[in-house]
Amino acid sequence: MTRRSWFAITVATVVSGAVTGTLVAGEGSSGTPRRSATRATSTTRAAPPTTTTTAPPSLPPAPLPTPVPTVPGDVAPVISHVPTPNRVVFLTIDDGLVRDSRTIELIRQARIPVTLFLVPGPAREGQAYFQQLQALGGTVEAHSVHHPDLKKLGAAAQHNEVCGTLDDFGARFGRRPTLFRPPYGSYNETTKRVARSCGFQWVVTWRATLNDGVLAMQGGQLQPGDIILAHFRVDLPQNLAVLIAKLKAENFTVGHLEDYLSPGT
Ligand SMILES: [Zn+2]
Repeated sequence: MTRRSWFAITVATVVSGAVTGTLVAGEGSSGTPRRSATRATSTTRAAPPTTTTTAPPSLPPAPLPTPVPTVPGDVAPVISHVPTPNRVVFLTIDDGLVRDSRTIELIRQARIPVTLFLVPGPAREGQAYFQQLQALGGTVEAHSVHHPDLKKLGAAAQHNEVCGTLDDFGARFGRRPTLFRPPYGSYNETTKRVARSCGFQWVVTWRATLNDGVLAMQGGQLQPGDIILAHFRVDLPQNLAVLIAKLKAENFTVGHLEDYLSPGT
């Protein structure tokens, strides 16, 4: 993601607070029918919005995972696509800024074991929310302390950013992260070396992105093993509905990334 995207997230957070009860800013322009039912309320036990009924309620059970062997050495390898014969993709959701109860309901209905690359502030403020996602099979992983462009930092500063949430997340969520996602997908050799030095098994990027109701794939069709990037933003429930419908139509399901990249953790 670009640096601009991070700012957009922050702005969207502010905007969502300002327009509660109305359509989310920016949603009117592309106007698919299902968007008209998207509501920006924060009601926790509201009836499922139309977005959930337009998507199939669940995906097929995930097949047995095919773990990828750990790569030994002084650098954590980078992965955007998991080699597997299984017709699975992996859903990763980043940052944690907007926490909508509809997201939890969609994930529950579709039985999606998400991987959450969180930054510390939202992780702390939304601990109970993310623990609900853990209870649905989700796993919390690391995404730096301050969300910088790591390539612009030296080794010591990168170490602080890459490794600095391990203890906190381990205590807060009951499991020490094993996967690291660099902010903006920006990394260099130092990032990979630093990540391995504090125990990360993989640096995880992505092959597809989910924004504004559109799943954008690098290289055409969704392929088994693709890692998908989404964000905790106001459009996440809508994005999930779109994704679930597409996966159902193409006979995909969602695998648990850690079962493939760091089994047993
Ligand atoms: Zn991020």
